Parts: sequence; structure tokens; C-alpha cells
Amino acid sequence: MEEKPAQPRFKGDFVLRNGEWVTLRSLLATLTPEEFSGLALARSMDFFETTHAFCGRCGTPMEPAPDPVAPHARRCLKPGCEGNTRFSYPAFSVAILAAVTRRGGEELLLAHNTAWPAPRMSLVAGFLHPGESLEDCVRREVLEETGLRVSLPSFSGSQAWPFPCSLMTGFTAEWEAGGIRTDGAEIDRAEWITREKFMEARERTASPGSGLQIPPKGSLSRRLMDDWAGRGK
Ligand SMILES: [Zn+2]
Repeated sequence: MEEKPAQPRFKGDFVLRNGEWVTLRSLLATLTPEEFSGLALARSMDFFETTHAFCGRCGTPMEPAPDPVAPHARRCLKPGCEGNTRFSYPAFSVAILAAVTRRGGEELLLAHNTAWPAPRMSLVAGFLHPGESLEDCVRREVLEETGLRVSLPSFSGSQAWPFPCSLMTGFTAEWEAGGIRTDGAEIDRAEWITREKFMEARERTASPGSGLQIPPKGSLSRRLMDDWAGRGK
């Protein structure tokens, strides 16, 4: 009989792998998409069950709900409570990544978040606000963080981002107007980089020095950057 794989164990963002607690994020570059997806599901459910252990309406414990089309639903155990019949479903914080280019795609906009080490830069990113479309969100985030106005964004892909319960969505857009002016609070530096500079940084990924550092393989941000680099050939 085939042995069922054991349910992964989590402690916050750490997962037990080969007897060692490691961050899920540190595994991005080494896991296959299928392995990452399985762990993302397990981490998302661990988070959902932790944050929905009790009913938000009446405080009674919750249990898995018998919803045949939504196997991850939970419900309140108390008969008569609205949460007993209106089930709760895992909720996601939706985030965008913006691959903004100019000069016919020759240059890509990268930004430095104040929380990161100095050499690290990535695409403009941010969370969707209630009432916004994803396209609105991309344009707002780029404007807020870098002062630039961009064309209508095009969707480029998405990735489960279980840190702890996000969905990352990727877009491309062209610069339309404005000069770089960062907000100084979240983003303190942004610049247009050439393919040459990006390629150098990619070569250096294995032994990072003081030059530009880009996101690791396995992340959607890196995929969008690699896609851009590939379009230059
Ligand atoms: Zn309840």
C-alpha cells in the first residue's frame, strides 16, 4: 500500500524539513512548483485554522464545515449562530508586483524597501485596497512609491504567497509620465536598470557581494524580471 505523506509541521513561518526548522521562504529556490504548492496549502490552512479557531461572531469554537464544494471551509459549532450556517473560508491578502519598463522595454524599474539590506532591490509591490481593481492597485502603488505614472497594466501571472496568507499577482506596465520621487518611508530609492546591469546581478546571485541583489529564483518577482530580461534577446 502506498504510504500517505505526513502532514507538514509548522511553527509560524517555519516548517520542519529533514529534522530542521527552516523558513518556507528559504525553500523557494529549491522546491519544485508542486512541492511549493503543497506546502503553501498546508501553511495557509495552518494559519486559517489558528486564526479561525473561534467564531468571530459569538466566540464559540469552530470546526471544519460540511461544504462539498469548499473543502477548506469552517463553521461555528453553536446552533442558531449565523456562523453556523454561513461558513468561513480562507481569506487572502492580495498583493501586486509591477514590472514597469521604459524606452521600449530597455529599462526596468527597481525599488529598494527601507526594511531590506542596502544592495537588495525588487519590483514595486503592494497590497490591494478594498474597492480597488488590481490594475488600479498597480497604478496607485507605482505612483505612491516612485512618483511615476504608468500605462494600463497587463496581467503576467500569479503565485501562492503563504507568508502567511497572500496571493501574489504580477503585472507589466510602461512608464507614461513623471520622474522618480520615492516616498522615503517605505521606499527610499528607485532606479531604472539596464539588462546589462540585471544580467551582472543574476550572475552574482550565487556569491552576493556589494552590487545589486535581486530576488531569489522561485519567486514571481524574479520570474517577471527574468521574463523581461529574456525579451531583450
Ligand atoms: Zn458563532
